[in-house]
Amino acid sequence: MSEIRIKRIDLTRDYEAHHREYQEAIERVCRETAFSGGKFADTFDREFAEYVGVPYACGVNNGTSALHLAMLALGVGAGDEVIVPANTYIATAWGVSYTGAVPVFVDCTPDTWEIDPERIEAKITPRTKGIIGVHLYGQPFDYAGVSAVAQKHGLFVAEDCAQAHGAKFRGRNVGSLGEMGCFSFYPGKNLYAFGEGGSITCKKESYYRHMTRLKNQGCDIRYYHDEIGYNYRLEGLQGAVLSVSLKYLPQWTRRRQEIGHRYLQEIRNPLITMQVHPDNTEPVFHLFVIQVEERDKFLAYMADAGVECNLHYPVPCHLQKAYAHLEYRKGDCPNAEALAEHCVTLPLFPEMRENEIARVIALCNEYGV
Ligand SMILES: *Cc1c(COP(=O)(O)O)cnc(C)c1O
Repeated sequence: MSEIRIKRIDLTRDYEAHHREYQEAIERVCRETAFSGGKFADTFDREFAEYVGVPYACGVNNGTSALHLAMLALGVGAGDEVIVPANTYIATAWGVSYTGAVPVFVDCTPDTWEIDPERIEAKITPRTKGIIGVHLYGQPFDYAGVSAVAQKHGLFVAEDCAQAHGAKFRGRNVGSLGEMGCFSFYPGKNLYAFGEGGSITCKKESYYRHMTRLKNQGCDIRYYHDEIGYNYRLEGLQGAVLSVSLKYLPQWTRRRQEIGHRYLQEIRNPLITMQVHPDNTEPVFHLFVIQVEERDKFLAYMADAGVECNLHYPVPCHLQKAYAHLEYRKGDCPNAEALAEHCVTLPLFPEMRENEIARVIALCNEYGV
């Protein structure tokens, strides 16, 4: 095989393809000096709300802030508990912890690797306020299952959509299903800023107004602070760049789906297990995660072949040192723990070339034989 090096993700190809448009957008912001919040951030908010199919999108400075503000607007605070999957990026839990509430970790299913609705009820206490489901790797979690439990117990459902822009559950966009949809535009996410960015989508005007005040130092009228607020505004430059990227998101998503489905169909190796994607969902393949036997051997084999892989995530949330005080033990979330031990993320990004896709598939199929 030819000696090509394949990166896990390569953002330079998007910039090369569209640099003129990006530069023009940046130039417009500079000319108008609309740097913090302002016209370009507001325009992106309207476009993003329309894309998700909700009345409101509240742009913020990153996805972690989006989760924090969503929890505050939902009334989460000290003494409360919020259910969160053990298998997610840690920021899902930070959003809860920042309010003084406690994240309660629930295991994922052994096949979809998403939050297991059947394990939620056992974790509900009188202090439980709600559930944050995560559409992890771009695969929608079982919203119907989670919301049935939530309704029975009077809990909210918020969605962490940081990895799932454009994904659908039963034909409906993620971010329009629960009370709040929290998005990240960190570089490398399916829709990304040239820096940091995030957004919260919602249907209720009161939530939108409250989050707009909170991100803006707690004021509706400048210098009149009605509550303790934050500086969580989206930058104008990021809004302008995101408006350009949003136009390309549908074609990037189609390309991710083509590559994802090729991996699913063409990688055939008894040492490799794939995530299960239920019929009623349209995943957007933010990350293509597999489980592999003898992971260290596989990682060395791919690195020798010039293919970059990485791990999402090597330590599940409930076993992170930051949450040692919650006293979880190994064995509490066995599916998430097995995933942490065996997961590998293969290269996948919209600009991948045919020979690169074919090489990743061939290497996976030849592993261990
Ligand atoms: C990226 C990510 C976040 C945090 O977003 P930032 O913009 O990096 O703060 C939260 N949750 C999940 C699942 C993520 O992947």
